[in-house]
Amino acid sequence: MNKKIIIAIDGYSSTGKSTVARQLAKRLGYIYVDTGAMYRAVTLYAMQHNYIGPDHFDKDALEKCLPLIHIRFEVSSTTGLAEVLLNDVNVEKQIRTLEVSRLVSPVAAVSKVRKKLVEQQQLMGIDKGIVMDGRDIGTVVFPDAELKLFMTATAKDRAERRYKELVDRGENVTYEDVLKNVVNRDHIDSTRKDSPLRKAANAIQIDNSNLTLDEQFHQILGIAQKAIMQVN
Ligand code: C5P
Repeated sequence: MNKKIIIAIDGYSSTGKSTVARQLAKRLGYIYVDTGAMYRAVTLYAMQHNYIGPDHFDKDALEKCLPLIHIRFEVSSTTGLAEVLLNDVNVEKQIRTLEVSRLVSPVAAVSKVRKKLVEQQQLMGIDKGIVMDGRDIGTVVFPDAELKLFMTATAKDRAERRYKELVDRGENVTYEDVLKNVVNRDHIDSTRKDSPLRKAANAIQIDNSNLTLDEQFHQILGIAQKAIMQVN
């Protein structure tokens, strides 16, 4: 029997984790879960209710409302990709804006938010056969994952990629703003008290600054196939 494994992909902002995680899941026939989308959806909820903005954050109000926030994924019939739903409304586009990116890290630093989402993520992985990307997957969500990857690239390379993505989507942003956001998020994510972004001791580090998407995919696919062979 072909036993399935859990593949945890962590790393800094805009390192292309979700691109490679999605490719890998498709090739292996695994489920792909973008945990960043879940933190972004909670942030969008907080923005919609004015619990957070550029100059304020009412953490208590958000914590009280957590039971009212329901997040799930649904595969889009047009793109075939999993999209995020916040209280049954598809918010896939809204959560990708720079505005949400600017506010998401303070929201993700709230322990009660993390507890709720981590529990949901652990349930998603109960049958294995999952590729999950985020910041704490190999350290907190699935510390026993059979394969852990940690992605890095220079801040400049990452900001360039994210800037291009946002401009392609029609957002009016500057490269400087995107770079500032990437650096700022990495700082908050790595220094928060609860589940800071860290490379798990047994994670394989991949620096993709000088790799094409294709090279990166084939390198990681090889590593994943080896990890799957080891459990079978
Ligand atoms: O992956 P993405 O860049 O969309 O994640 C957005 C933000 O969500 C991160 O900057 C981080 O603050 C938070 N996050 C997290 N833990 C995860 C995934 C994302 O704290 N597992």
